[in-house]
Amino acid sequence: MTFFAQYDDALSDAERELVSKARWFCEGKFSEETRQAHLRGVPFAREWIKSWADEGMLGLQVKPEHGGHGASFICKVRVAQEVARHSFAAAFCLNNLQGQATRLSRAGSDEQRSHLLAGLVAGSILAAPSMSEPSGGSDLGALTTTATPVSGGWLVNGVKDWVTNGTIVDWVSMLVRSGESAELMSLLVPCGAESSVTREEVPLAGGRSFRLAKMTFRDHFVPDWALLGPAGNAVRASMAAVNAARVHVAAMAVATLHSALCEAVRYCGRREALGKVLLAHQGLQWELAEVAARLEAANALGFKAAQLVDRGLPAQTAAAQCKKFAVDTAIWGIDQCIRAMGAVGASDAHRLGMHLAEVRLAAYADGTNEMMLDRIGRGLAKDYGMPVAGEQAPTGMEGKPT
Ligand SMILES: Cc1cc2nc3c(=O)[nH]c(=O)nc-3n(C[C@H](O)[C@H](O)[C@H](O)COP(=O)(O)OP(=O)(O)OC[C@H]3O[C@@H](n4cnc5c(N)ncnc54)[C@H](O)[C@@H]3O)c2cc1C
Repeated sequence: MTFFAQYDDALSDAERELVSKARWFCEGKFSEETRQAHLRGVPFAREWIKSWADEGMLGLQVKPEHGGHGASFICKVRVAQEVARHSFAAAFCLNNLQGQATRLSRAGSDEQRSHLLAGLVAGSILAAPSMSEPSGGSDLGALTTTATPVSGGWLVNGVKDWVTNGTIVDWVSMLVRSGESAELMSLLVPCGAESSVTREEVPLAGGRSFRLAKMTFRDHFVPDWALLGPAGNAVRASMAAVNAARVHVAAMAVATLHSALCEAVRYCGRREALGKVLLAHQGLQWELAEVAARLEAANALGFKAAQLVDRGLPAQTAAAQCKKFAVDTAIWGIDQCIRAMGAVGASDAHRLGMHLAEVRLAAYADGTNEMMLDRIGRGLAKDYGMPVAGEQAPTGMEGKPT
């Protein structure tokens, strides 16, 4: 049974074809060119986004009647894993673009779809989601960007930070405050060549392929058809998307670690020291065996959460658990693989340094490790407080023990 078999068994034949296509795509020039870009300290070439779109991958989960494949969440995860085996950052970015097309297909209005969806699927229009601001990332209550109603739309004022793909996107779906209650709503904001929006790259050594940007909006006009999530519903919809994203990030981190472990095992199976191959030295073998054991555990946890998302079941806790565990395991495990290979593991002759630099950033994107623990912690009494016979249930239980 291959490492990814549990996911692949859950796919239809058509979905397996998509995964094969993604594998074939990534194993070509894409792999080496993204690595070379990382070594030069520049983002992977923008042309790869168009090539990815030409393969139909930006419409992966878009409904067939809107020109997409209507693929399941598990298929989307597997496709992203194929990319993450070569570059976590590229996988994160391509998926981020794909997610916006999916959102419009599922929850956009006819007008929004007629303006944007075909372009999003074809890769001629790029869009990104944005919540974080300089005033707060973990704390949505700290968001201050406003949208003031004006004739025919809104005027947006504020600063959005850490926007993935922010240096190149044409539209951003963002949380903004509006009305007297200042509740959060979700707006699709155009950000092409207008002078009322400026952007600057957030420099991040080893993470240029995320194309992170800070975007400043000053009396920036947004047409009224661009309201994506009205107040009262926007935060719930955004958080549902974030839960799925956490599972997805976990699965990608697992795939990146798997790639690192395979590279380390191949190398250590060839390289000799003191009369035998490195892998035959028990101390080193056990170190990599520990990585393999934790990798399998992270993979199983990710798959469990992916199944919940796919079935539309509550996945908040499972998503937080798998993201926390997978990201920690990947950061630790890739470092172990690098050390097992000796100095060459840290050199540019191998891909492991790039994997570590990119995966490290997964500990922030879509919620930090502390926020994952916070989410898990809030459910402890409900999820694990099952009383034994005659014992009183812990206080603070939100519902029946499960
Ligand atoms: C590669 C990358 C891509 C990203 N892409 C996007 C994107 O596309 N869109 C977007 O909106 N954002 C994006 N982000 C931003 C990301 O979502 C935020 O960095 C994250 O939410 C944390 O916010 P912050 O950095 O402002 O940290 P803060 O919220 O300021 O937190 C600082 C520290 O305090 C800890 N902390 C905060 N609250 C608590 C608490 N209650 N208990 C214990 N510890 C706490 C945090 O865990 C963290 O360690 C991205 C970030 C990175 C690195």
